[in-house]
Amino acid sequence: MSMSTPYRLPAVVTSFIDGQWQSAGSHLLPVINPANEETIAQLSEADANETAAAVAAARRAHEQGRWADLPATEKQRIFRQIGALTTQHLDELAWLESLNSGLPLRYVHSRQLPRIVSNFSFFADWLSQNTERAGVQDDSYLRYVVREPAGVAALISPWNAPLALASTKIAAALAFGNSCVVKTAETTPLAVARFMGILTEAGVPAGVVNLINGRGHITGDALVRHKDVRVVSFTGGTATGRAIAAAAAPGLKRVDLELGGKSANIITASANLDDALEGALTAIYTNNGQQCFAGSRILLEHSIADEFLRRFAERARTIRVGDPLDRATEIGPLANEAHYARVQSFVGAALNEGGRLLCGGQRPAKLETGYYFEPTAVLMPSNDTQVCQEEIFGPFAAFQTFDNFDEALRIANASDFGLVSYLWSNDLAQVNQAMRAIKAGVVLVNTPMTLDLRFPFGGYKNSGVGREGIDGMRHFYTEEKTVTIAL
Ligand code: NAD
Repeated sequence: MSMSTPYRLPAVVTSFIDGQWQSAGSHLLPVINPANEETIAQLSEADANETAAAVAAARRAHEQGRWADLPATEKQRIFRQIGALTTQHLDELAWLESLNSGLPLRYVHSRQLPRIVSNFSFFADWLSQNTERAGVQDDSYLRYVVREPAGVAALISPWNAPLALASTKIAAALAFGNSCVVKTAETTPLAVARFMGILTEAGVPAGVVNLINGRGHITGDALVRHKDVRVVSFTGGTATGRAIAAAAAPGLKRVDLELGGKSANIITASANLDDALEGALTAIYTNNGQQCFAGSRILLEHSIADEFLRRFAERARTIRVGDPLDRATEIGPLANEAHYARVQSFVGAALNEGGRLLCGGQRPAKLETGYYFEPTAVLMPSNDTQVCQEEIFGPFAAFQTFDNFDEALRIANASDFGLVSYLWSNDLAQVNQAMRAIKAGVVLVNTPMTLDLRFPFGGYKNSGVGREGIDGMRHFYTEEKTVTIAL
């Protein structure tokens, strides 16, 4: 394979510790191209010793102030350089990400990875403007607050947007002066590994960002439990979030958990239905449907349902499914074999519970290998069904209908998750009512998802604890120290 690829693939992805790629260990795992099921590289799993070496390197770098003590102007310069090098190597990063994850190249190249540049630029701007609060002086005391980096941060992320998610955590950890150990998903390490070279080239000192690879219950667990890790930032599934919170508890580590979702998308008769249709398709099918904020439960007002369902299915059938590296492709293969089998199993589950298949539901014709799955939609008789309650994390929309707006809000909130809620409506009273009633961390009115680091992103209920966004990240990645001086 490597002979014909436009960019170099590593034979084995190893750990990156203290600025050095390590030699491969004894436990290798295959890295698979989900578009053709071929093995494209190996991954060397970090054991507890190698994990400890990565944490020790991060701790040393932190204690020596290799990063934290750099002047803000130097940190800023490096952040801007990371952005510039990411842009310079965007074709390569996007190719690696798409090859390894199955995400469509056109989306990764135009939307996901440019976020790295804007994120580092955001924090570079923030570094230039950040002045901590002034102290307060009264008759007896001068008091002020010093904000210090938390220390060594563990950054654990999933496979659905490997580099976009890992790099956002890296940018935030560094912006607040921390060193870190990154553990990305074991199935999709290629672009994240390549990004280590970009960080080094941009001038991030050795030991400040370390990468370890391996399965969650081995490498991830050892990282979370390591005594010198102070904070754990995790994005991934809800069950894993619980395991991580439990593993972090004895060490009293701070955790930020960005977990799953089953987001409602309420479409009312007052909405602009053309916009709502495109918005609904975007919210469920972008990124192969593998998005925490996917609008996976679509609630339609009864009077518009028949027409909307017909148009939705018609449009879904025109979505181009195929080779993710082909720029025409809108949906690539699902990320891995186990995930494909799981997504497929929800079709039977939907039909068993009285669902009607509107489109999709199987492997597309002519795509015999690879984890390809058609954009799928079902109409369900009740919210109290598996496909309306469990996160599927694939191109799988579950529709329901409602008779009045109170009912729509009740259904939207009848979920263990609470990440995002979408509403399409041109009725101001409905918008105001929804804003107050919705139990979700993000409410989007007449728009698909847009991310903005100035604002919090995160979930209610089983969708998580904590918020990614400048305020939440500042709180998460720093310790506050109050200094009181007698006058
Ligand atoms: P996952 O929880 O299986 O794995 C995520 C990461 O955690 C991987 O790196 C994995 O190796 C690691 N991990 C697994 N078990 C661990 C353990 N015991 N200790 C430490 N680390 C461990 O998640 P996934 O299936 O890879 O990702 C999909 C999930 O991520 C979905 O539920 C999705 O909604 C969620 N997600 C949430 C957000 C958000 O911002 N809220 C964003 C993207 C994805």
